[in-house]
Amino acid sequence: MPTTRDDCLAMDAADPLARFRDEFDLPGDRIYLAGNSLGAPPRTAADRVSRTVRAEWGGELVGGWNTAGWFELPFRTGDRIAPLIGADPGQVVVGNSTSVVIFQALAAALGLRPGRRVVVADPGEFPTDRYVAQGLAALLPGAEVRDGTHGGDDVAAVLLSQVHYRTGERRDVAEVTRRVQESGALMIWDLCHSVGALQVDVSAADFAVGCTYKYLNGGPGAPAFLYVNPRHHRAARNPLSGWYAHAEPFAFEPGFRPADGVRRFAVSTPHVLSFAGLEAALDIWERVDLAQVRAKSVAMTELFVELAEASCPDLSLVTPRDPERRGSQVSFRHPHGYPVVRALAERGVQGDFRAPDVLRFGFAPLYLRYQDVFDAVAVLAEVMAAEPWRDERYTRRLAVT
Ligand SMILES: *Cc1c(COP(=O)(O)O)cnc(C)c1O
Repeated sequence: MPTTRDDCLAMDAADPLARFRDEFDLPGDRIYLAGNSLGAPPRTAADRVSRTVRAEWGGELVGGWNTAGWFELPFRTGDRIAPLIGADPGQVVVGNSTSVVIFQALAAALGLRPGRRVVVADPGEFPTDRYVAQGLAALLPGAEVRDGTHGGDDVAAVLLSQVHYRTGERRDVAEVTRRVQESGALMIWDLCHSVGALQVDVSAADFAVGCTYKYLNGGPGAPAFLYVNPRHHRAARNPLSGWYAHAEPFAFEPGFRPADGVRRFAVSTPHVLSFAGLEAALDIWERVDLAQVRAKSVAMTELFVELAEASCPDLSLVTPRDPERRGSQVSFRHPHGYPVVRALAERGVQGDFRAPDVLRFGFAPLYLRYQDVFDAVAVLAEVMAAEPWRDERYTRRLAVT
């Protein structure tokens, strides 16, 4: 029996996460399936940012560094993200962007494996990961970037996403980490498409990075996080050794002396206003059971695949069919993917497009309902059948796809 809209309403009524939807500001005229690109704003985010501007910045001026605790933001929020990735307090630092913390992790990994000069970063991965590896290799004589996902005798580090940004395929963190480390290389996980979507356990990894503006809902441009396994805290070197990473930042010494622990991976003055949005989101995450998030994510992606395959024969599934092997997104291939995504958006279903031909739909369990999944497929089926996407105005590419 195919799933009906009434079935979906019943699933929503029984959903243990349903109460979180009210904690987000969602436009009433759209079904938002792009939370894997930019999460929705927590209702408290605007007040939180406003309070930071008015009360902390306006009220305290430079005193805010002490009275509002701005100085500790990278470490305080790191400790709040730690439980979401299977880390402990004192192992995660927040700041900068994912690309920047990837640079830090890769450079530190090469430093920890003298004699090995290869970084493995696969061409199929989100490009910035590999671009940053290439930029770093160009600075280091003898260093090179290799395609693939495996370690080897000359490999210092393997950089890999837990969930693939385009296909939604999920890798086995424990198994891959073990295999890479057995080869003598260090394992760096990119968690951009997994943090906030499923349980993550990075405790065996050497480094992990991730952004906070996708499933975590920290806001556009919210700062990234970097996890450093404590076994590397003493020996790992931060290539961006800014004053924030110094053992005594206010001693203003002429030479760099690294701080203890993960603090040595801080860089510089935190983006205080961006942290305000992230903290509003973390207030929600503190109350969320990730096992429930994962269970709902699997149920929603299963439902979407079932309904879309039944009503849209022209779409071919890219994401693995086995829910154990996927994250919280479903991707379909269609030769006219871009205009299809544009036509969907105009009819109230926001997904996104990834070149060359992938339609991507993300499912954020905290604010999506099963009825949204049902209604989104109804619009998708209508667009596939009536082909409004053939209108040439949909084919012109916008700057951000
Ligand atoms: C979103 C994403 C990034 C983002 O990088 P920025 O530095 O924040 O622009 C990096 N890597 C992956 C795999 C991503 O999905």
